[in-house]
Amino acid sequence: MSGSSETLLGRVLIGFGMLLAAADLAVSASATQLLDIPSDPRLGSEVRALRSTFVNEELARYREKGQLGCVNYCRQVHRAFDRIKRAAVKQSAEAKRLTLVVVRDPGIDAWASATGHIFISESFILRHSLVEAEIAMALAHEVMHVLLAHEVFGMTLVKALNPVNRERPLETLYEDLESDLSMMMNLSSILKEQEHEADEGGLLLAALAGYAPRDQTRLLIKLKSNEKSGFNLTHPLALERIVRVNTLMPIAIKIRQRYGGQ
Ligand SMILES: [Zn+2]
Repeated sequence: MSGSSETLLGRVLIGFGMLLAAADLAVSASATQLLDIPSDPRLGSEVRALRSTFVNEELARYREKGQLGCVNYCRQVHRAFDRIKRAAVKQSAEAKRLTLVVVRDPGIDAWASATGHIFISESFILRHSLVEAEIAMALAHEVMHVLLAHEVFGMTLVKALNPVNRERPLETLYEDLESDLSMMMNLSSILKEQEHEADEGGLLLAALAGYAPRDQTRLLIKLKSNEKSGFNLTHPLALERIVRVNTLMPIAIKIRQRYGGQ
C-alpha cells in the first residue's frame, strides 16, 4: 500500500476494492490485480513515452486545424478542472502531472492519456448542454483513469494475451487493441469495469472538490438519453453506470458535506 492511499479518497476506495496507484506502479491497483499478473516494471514508462508522442501529435493536429483551446466554456471547464486537480493532488502526488486540453472536435467527448493529459471537447459540452458539475464529473472520471493507471494495466493485459515468445513493440500492441476483435472481447469485461471504477472514484473526487453528487450524475442521465443502441465492448451502458454510482450516492453526499468546502 502506498502512502498516497492513506488519504480520504484512498480509504474510501479501499473499501470498494480499489487503491490509488502509486506513481511508479506498472499496473493499476484494481481488484483485478489480485490475479497477480506478472508486470513489466518498464511498461509504465514505455506507455507514457509512447503516449507523450501521440499527445504531442494530437496537439499539433488540433493547432493546425484551429481546434485547440476553449472558446465558449472556458470559465466552467477551467474552474472544474482546477478544483478537481486541487482535490486530486491532496490524494496523490501523481495528480500533479494532470494537464487539461480543451479542443473543439465533434469526434470526441473526453479521454485521458497515461501521460496525465485530460482531453475534453467543447462539442461534447455543447451537444449535451453540460453545466459545471456535469463537466466536473466528466473530468474527474478521466482523472481517475490516470490515477488508477488503467491504460498501463490494459496494456499489461494486451501483452498477456499475445502469444508467448512473441515479443512485439508497444505500438503494435496498441494497434491490436484497435483491430483485434477477439482480444477486445477477452478484455471487454475488464475495460467496462475500469469505466465503473472511474465513475465511482470520479464521483467521490468531484464530491471532495465540492460538487454535489446528484448534480454531477445528471451527466449520466444526459448520456443515457442520447445513447445510441448497439454493442459496445469498452463502455457499459449509461443505465448500468447510473445504477453503480447510485450505490455510492449516500457516502458521496456525506463526503461533499464534510470535506467538499475545503
Ligand atoms: Zn472512461
